[in-house]
Amino acid sequence: MVTSNENQAHIDSLRIRMQRVEKQSSTICAAKWLQSTIYLHNGQTHSCHHPAVHSINAEVIIKDPSALHNTAVKLKARKDMWRGKQTKECEYCWNIENLKKDHISDRMYKSADERWSYPFLEEIEKADYSKNVIPRYLEVAFENTCNFKCAYCTPDTSSKWMEEVREHGHYPTSWGTGNLDWIKRVGKMPIPRTATNPYVEAFWKWWPELLPELRVFRITGGEPLLSQHTWRVIEDITKGEARDLDFALNSNLNVPDKLFERLLSETPALTEKLRNFEIYTSCEAAGKQAEYIRYGMDYEVFFKNVERFLKETPSRTRINFMITFNALSLTTFLGFLHKVLQLRKQYNENPAFNRLPIMIAYLHWPPFLSMRILPRNIREKYAADFRAFALAYAGAFDEKNGTGALYLEEKDQLERLADFMLEDLPEKGVKRDRKDFAKFIEEYDRRKNLSFVETFPEYADFYRACKIL
Ligand code: SF4
Repeated sequence: MVTSNENQAHIDSLRIRMQRVEKQSSTICAAKWLQSTIYLHNGQTHSCHHPAVHSINAEVIIKDPSALHNTAVKLKARKDMWRGKQTKECEYCWNIENLKKDHISDRMYKSADERWSYPFLEEIEKADYSKNVIPRYLEVAFENTCNFKCAYCTPDTSSKWMEEVREHGHYPTSWGTGNLDWIKRVGKMPIPRTATNPYVEAFWKWWPELLPELRVFRITGGEPLLSQHTWRVIEDITKGEARDLDFALNSNLNVPDKLFERLLSETPALTEKLRNFEIYTSCEAAGKQAEYIRYGMDYEVFFKNVERFLKETPSRTRINFMITFNALSLTTFLGFLHKVLQLRKQYNENPAFNRLPIMIAYLHWPPFLSMRILPRNIREKYAADFRAFALAYAGAFDEKNGTGALYLEEKDQLERLADFMLEDLPEKGVKRDRKDFAKFIEEYDRRKNLSFVETFPEYADFYRACKIL
């Protein structure tokens, strides 16, 4: 666990590294050169996650597959940064830095990262803004094939969502949730998995050059375990030499048994060849409520698989829980956290190595599923419960209840969540979002033969009130 002294030392050392990063200019961000997310299923990319995605030129990648990452848009942003300009697409960071309050922006965290950016600054210097570079942190999605259609997902990311919208049309919210015309217009329409995909072809052409250079590689989706490309990556890594690579897979951990068994059986040999192997999974509620939010999930099977992975794979593997905290998470969230802490008690043999980290993010989109549409009294009640939970479990193994500890940075995340829950939305926006919430839920129930009121009886009055707005 990190003490405040260690934390201060960490920040001091980060600031020292930043002096080297900013040798050329004070707006350089290493992520623009060395980090990339590439959506191969629709030919879009960004560096890092904060700027909007843009389209890759399908002609250029035929000759030069590294243009999957080194697009004209990124080269232009690099040029701005090289010349000390706050490039437009990175507003997220400038908003923090322009406060002039000594806050540490993501630009600094990412540029000073000792794993995948700071050791490679010379490559940025050699390339300046005119030459292509190989990313050291790469995330790819091969396809949108997925067996889930979570409430907060979209057709371009889930094939199940796509099937549903093709059959029933988009949702009748003011945003037209799932509108395929919009998806087409912004270039996000996925290329079907059976069709020729020039982006996937370019990736495999680039792969032999890419693999030895990568330090972090992550596959997202869709559900990556449903993609043959994921298994090809696993096979290539397992057959090759040992690498200084952190490899991660996103997974809903609710894939057909055969595929899950394959993951279990291939993980030991795969892990041997890697520095780290991790799964990133998602959940933000417990039981039936979790299954309602993440449609397609079987909560019991999910945790059975989590436990099998921890038990049957080497003790240096990890399962990270990504929490997209939303309006439907409040009432059973602590039940979910409690379950994670119980598993920690059993599987965190070395408390310095947390095999089950949690990361709490708040859902911003779609706005009608944000927790902030809920009445203040509900948010206040749960914010108080979350604070009490954070205090009770931080750093403490609870022998009586058989749970492991909440790590300090997780306590901080939970307290931040409690703070954020109490920030009200502007009245006009709330009304629109609550109306949308009612329209979405009514249609969601109808299409999936669910009952919101039976699954969330504690929200029945709120739902009724939203319906008559
Ligand atoms: S400056 Fe900020 S938004 Fe831009 S790439 Fe770097 S971390 Fe991302």
